[in-house]
Amino acid sequence: MNASPSSFTLPFAANSDALCTTSAAVNWIGGAFVAPQADHGRLPIHNPRHGAVMAEVHLSDRADVDAAVAAAQAALPAWRALPVRDRAQVMFRLRELMHRELDALTWLVSHENGKIYAEARAEVEKAIECVEFGCSLGNMGVGEQLDVSKGVNCQTTQEPLGVVAGVTPFNFPLMVPLWMLPQALVGGNAFILKPSERVPLSTQRLAVLLQQAGLPDGIFNIVNGAQAVVEALCDHPTIKAVGFVGSTKVAKLVYGRAAATGKRALCLGGAKNHLIVVPDADVALSAENIVASFSGCAGQRCMAASVLVAVGDCDKVIDAVVAKAGQIRMGAELGPVISAAAHARIKGYIDGAEKMGAVVRVDGRGASADPGGWWVGPTILDRVSPDMPAGCEEIFGPVLSIVRVNTLDEAIAIENNNPYGNASSVYTTSGAVARYVMSKVDAGMCGVNVGVPVPREPFGFGGWNDSKFGHGNMTGWDGYLFWTRPRKVTSKWALQADWTWMS
Ligand code: NAD
Repeated sequence: MNASPSSFTLPFAANSDALCTTSAAVNWIGGAFVAPQADHGRLPIHNPRHGAVMAEVHLSDRADVDAAVAAAQAALPAWRALPVRDRAQVMFRLRELMHRELDALTWLVSHENGKIYAEARAEVEKAIECVEFGCSLGNMGVGEQLDVSKGVNCQTTQEPLGVVAGVTPFNFPLMVPLWMLPQALVGGNAFILKPSERVPLSTQRLAVLLQQAGLPDGIFNIVNGAQAVVEALCDHPTIKAVGFVGSTKVAKLVYGRAAATGKRALCLGGAKNHLIVVPDADVALSAENIVASFSGCAGQRCMAASVLVAVGDCDKVIDAVVAKAGQIRMGAELGPVISAAAHARIKGYIDGAEKMGAVVRVDGRGASADPGGWWVGPTILDRVSPDMPAGCEEIFGPVLSIVRVNTLDEAIAIENNNPYGNASSVYTTSGAVARYVMSKVDAGMCGVNVGVPVPREPFGFGGWNDSKFGHGNMTGWDGYLFWTRPRKVTSKWALQADWTWMS
């Protein structure tokens, strides 16, 4: 391969929104940056704010996955032999290093993904929280034991799976990989990450930080690329589990392909999140929260509000949402979307809804903060029906569709008829309404007066229905259970005079 390996060892030099280029993203195998074994081409990595190339990523294939598996297998015996408390020490040191580099990591996330600085900083801080959960596993992972009859003891311990893999999306370049890594690594596994080819830079830096934190070489590896790498990870007989986060279409593919080779798989998919608002909702609190939910991170969050279902006369809240959204400053408070293709897709949903009779109350189609970038301003579509594409499909942009109904049960039925089931929220000052909605909606993560109801650590993150394939949650204790397997040991050391065949 003609490319020279990257030396992504210095913090990214950016300290403003100005375009800043950097070295190419290559693989990280056995504790070193290495170019792919053969030339499979490169993809540009764009800064979405400027629509300009900031770096390239070298694409890999099966042979590079094989090399990563070999490095992981070589390093695994010594790593899994360490007590869990020793493995957790790496997370304590990683936390310190991430705090030290908080600003540099923030700029890196902001530049490759397009998030405004404050959102990128929140992502890095949330990523650190995930690392903190990994720190706690040294104390939490005690297992269970019981004398089940006289002189006979049963004990459960969580054991590593071996070599495992993760595949991640573009919208949280640092946090989503860290949904998986702390539990998988402290659990005693060796990990191969395939980050999104659109945002592979943050994890290049994470690899170096993990090494500096004392993680043995080969225990964390990165293979960059696209579909070919993901398929190779799913097919590889040595890899025992695959964690995936991305769109529903790909989540389903990965779930099926990983299961075909007997792997454990947990695949989080897309979303169409409904917020139900009723007339007694607190106007100011609800409006602020709803706008933050649908426009934050340019709507590119799997937890973003997408449909506001207004029950009865909620015009006070809707008018406040419209007024607040109209004040958002492009570039300072709302970043660009990831690509030209995303821009065209989002605009297509807005155009289509308008043609079908929706009223465009706030129109983000002409908004921009930089002529080169991919900008969509906050957009509010009123009088959308649930069968319009904007009313039922994932848009993944800063667009809120308002559907108007007469009863709470109609609102709940609209939410429950949608195939996704990631998040659902209700805005009300009535405990009875909140309780009723929370007991009826068909979604895995629910909010009361909270538009982005992310269960923070130590609670587990994961939706239902077409938003998740597989059992359990990606974060929290469930994550630890996903990346480990229980060993049951039954022991008898004492001789008993009154033994039976059960003892
Ligand atoms: P994506 O599905 O296009 O890509 C995700 C990963 O899959 C990437 O690493 C990509 O290289 C790989 N991939 C893409 N096509 C593939 C194929 N045909 N075969 C195998 N691998 C393939 O998703 P994205 O555009 O990067 O991210 C946005 C999506 O992710 C949205 O749908 C969003 O809702 C979802 N998401 C979900 C969650 C969640 O927790 N449920 C969290 C974040 C993002």
